[in-house]
Amino acid sequence: MILTTGTFGNGLIHIGRMNHPGGRISEPNSTGLSEQLKEYGFIYGRMKTGTPARLDGRTIDFNVLEEQKGDEEIIGFSFMDIRLPKEQRSCYITYTNEKTHQILARGFKDSPLYTGKIKGIGPRYCPSIEDKIVTFANRKQHQLFLEPEGWKTNEYYINGFSSSLSAEIQYEALKSIKGLEDVKIFRPGYAIEYDYFPPTQLKYTLETKEIANLYFAGQINGTTGYEEAAAQGIMAGINAHLKIREKEAFILRRDESYIGVLIDDLVNKGVDEPYRMFTSRAEYRILLRQDNADERLTERSFIIGLASEDRMHKMEDKLRKKEKLITALKKYSIEPKIINGFLRRMKTSEIKQKGKLIDLVLRPEIKLEKLLKYLDNKIGEEIIDVEREKESIEIAEIEIKYNGYIKREALIAEKIRRLEDIAIDSKVDYDKMHAISTEAKQKLKRIRPLTIGQASRISGVSPSDINIILLYLGR
Ligand SMILES: Cc1cc2nc3c(=O)[nH]c(=O)nc-3n(C[C@H](O)[C@H](O)[C@H](O)COP(=O)(O)OP(=O)(O)OC[C@H]3O[C@@H](n4cnc5c(N)ncnc54)[C@H](O)[C@@H]3O)c2cc1C
Repeated sequence: MILTTGTFGNGLIHIGRMNHPGGRISEPNSTGLSEQLKEYGFIYGRMKTGTPARLDGRTIDFNVLEEQKGDEEIIGFSFMDIRLPKEQRSCYITYTNEKTHQILARGFKDSPLYTGKIKGIGPRYCPSIEDKIVTFANRKQHQLFLEPEGWKTNEYYINGFSSSLSAEIQYEALKSIKGLEDVKIFRPGYAIEYDYFPPTQLKYTLETKEIANLYFAGQINGTTGYEEAAAQGIMAGINAHLKIREKEAFILRRDESYIGVLIDDLVNKGVDEPYRMFTSRAEYRILLRQDNADERLTERSFIIGLASEDRMHKMEDKLRKKEKLITALKKYSIEPKIINGFLRRMKTSEIKQKGKLIDLVLRPEIKLEKLLKYLDNKIGEEIIDVEREKESIEIAEIEIKYNGYIKREALIAEKIRRLEDIAIDSKVDYDKMHAISTEAKQKLKRIRPLTIGQASRISGVSPSDINIILLYLGR
């Protein structure tokens, strides 16, 4: 059984002074489960999240707003995906202003956050608008994005305006914003508190330590968002299936995938606030790229019977082409008189002697695709079909250009492991370490870890933060 109760476990919705049980707006919550699990020895706590109002697009004056178009080059979510959308809907940008802030401030006296009604810990990275105007009191405006919710709806999501103030205050504040003077709303924003189960009660497979064959996945484990929930859902699903079939568990490592980082962080470090996956949490983030996701994971997925043979072949073919290209670039040298015209055009220095092509690709100004086109799709005897091998060319280029960084990253990760027992002076001044993240700073100051090993296990303290502390300690 996989339990994925999201925000529904004893969910309590807050809008101003009003609150009522609910899992999401207009949906009932789920009661009794948490209490029953407690009887089996589980512990659970409360977290909070929130959402902005939904606006009626027919009442927004888009003419006075700044348009934000989608990406020009649309890239598929999957390498197998050939059905890319042809059209995209735009988002629009607007801003709060001093009047908006004054109206919102009038609602504080009835705010569940400031009257202490909300006990759960909220997400650091999507604060409510009232949080923002208090934390950044000197800011005269905050940027907001108006995002269409779909093709066949007038509904707009106002990103950056999450709020649990009363509906009247939200409505009045919205109307003070440029482009929203006549706005109508479908639903006000709200905050929701819900039960979560500290994920240190889980194994790497997301099976609970307490009860065999029971798995927890998603927001119930103290994570914040869609991707974190989806990642855990698939891992719990895979592992539940493998267990029924009495097969070996499927665990992804930290240097293999963000899923590996996420689950390792959850089960080892636990959470003390809603957990959001950030690239900075991964010590191997240069290895964990979007362009090589298939290279990292297709075979693992194929072995357990998930990825199709077709997908596996496609990936192998791409890798073969990449290898062929890198080998050719390493092998062939080029005469200055042939290449210098191109180098000048790319605004990079000319070469004086015959040089290896791969050294030119290392230069940031040189794009491999352009170089290949310039060479008429030929490297020595190798013919490269630039139009049809775009993906292989892209990964070859990234691999060549990133090689130095990848090695450095692996060294740093290794160094952090070796320096596990280094003591940290209990009076060390974290405020002086400007380069560490605010989240890390707050937690280090509160917890005061005694060793580098202990510091590295604090949720929110990333490998790059650790590297900075090491530098500060003269290591
Ligand atoms: C209002 C709001 C706005 C959000 N906005 C964003 C956002 O912009 N970006 C982002 O990344 N994340 C956002 N999130 C978070 C994101 O929606 C969740 O993190 C994610 O959906 C969690 O997935 P989940 O599968 O854990 O649970 P959910 O998606 O919450 O699903 C839980 C499911 O379990 C069912 N359920 C619960 N209890 C029981 C029971 N006892 N019996 C049977 N069924 C039950 C519920 O009906 C529901 O279908 C938002 C969440 C909320 C509430």
